[in-house]
Amino acid sequence: MSGTLYVVATPIGNLEDITLRALRILQQVDLIAAEDTRHSRKLLNHFAITTTMVAFHEHNERDKTATLIEQLRGGKSIALISDAGTPTIADPGYRLISAVRAAGLPVAAVPGPSAIIAALSVAGLPTDSFQFLGFLPAKASARSKALEKLRGEQRTTVCYETPHRLLKAVTDIHDILGPECEVVVVRELTKIHEEVVRGPVREVLAEFSAREKVRGEIVLLLGAVPVVVSADNWRERLRERLAAGAETPKQSVKFIAKEFGVPSDDVYRYALALRNDE
Ligand code: SAM
Repeated sequence: MSGTLYVVATPIGNLEDITLRALRILQQVDLIAAEDTRHSRKLLNHFAITTTMVAFHEHNERDKTATLIEQLRGGKSIALISDAGTPTIADPGYRLISAVRAAGLPVAAVPGPSAIIAALSVAGLPTDSFQFLGFLPAKASARSKALEKLRGEQRTTVCYETPHRLLKAVTDIHDILGPECEVVVVRELTKIHEEVVRGPVREVLAEFSAREKVRGEIVLLLGAVPVVVSADNWRERLRERLAAGAETPKQSVKFIAKEFGVPSDDVYRYALALRNDE
């Protein structure tokens, strides 16, 4: 008899959110494959679970997969967990699951918390149809491109964001999708400082700009985005002109500022951010 790979969700903050089934499976399996064994040790200790753990993360996923499949074939049952929430959701694991399935071995879901779903449940935006983008790109040019694609998007959009990039992302949403775009920042779900800040992006931007520091874990959501019919394609045009290299960056900045009636300081700042990307 081969063993089963259980994909086990763990809490995203409050440890009481673990399910009874997750506790039983974690105790009963032969092995727990954990993204960070030191991190997960705290969870296991809290619930007095003594099962052996092995590290399974994005850097050893390929190497470890074959070993884990051999262990499943040999009849061992394995639980896959990540640092928090549901494994494989913006976390390692899908390659392992794909390989286990390809080997004809059983995979079972042990569902529970996930920051995407928890954030959607409290944001107050439509959830009948939504898209999840993972983390918005860190680089300014890639982030602008990702946001430009959202013009006219009618579904709710969900992204993960880091605290140190939140202000940049919200500023870009403001500049690219317009000041009225509805935004919800969901922070520290299920923890002491749980917070939901919702409103047109101009208000959310003012709120977070006034803070000395943003901390914690964040899900950023956008409501339906109007099709912005304005001259704010200037970022796209600037990128094209800079990439074409037919003029100096200074000339490109000057041209775009004049052509689109955008303050040259704004254009210059964006050109600088693009250069910092390189
Ligand atoms: N697999 C996880 C899940 O199902 O929620 C997500 C893993 S992803 C690497 C981690 C990101 O999820 C964080 O950077 C943050 O954006 C979001 N996140 C996790 N816990 C959160 C919480 N308690 N409150 C808000 N966002 C959270």
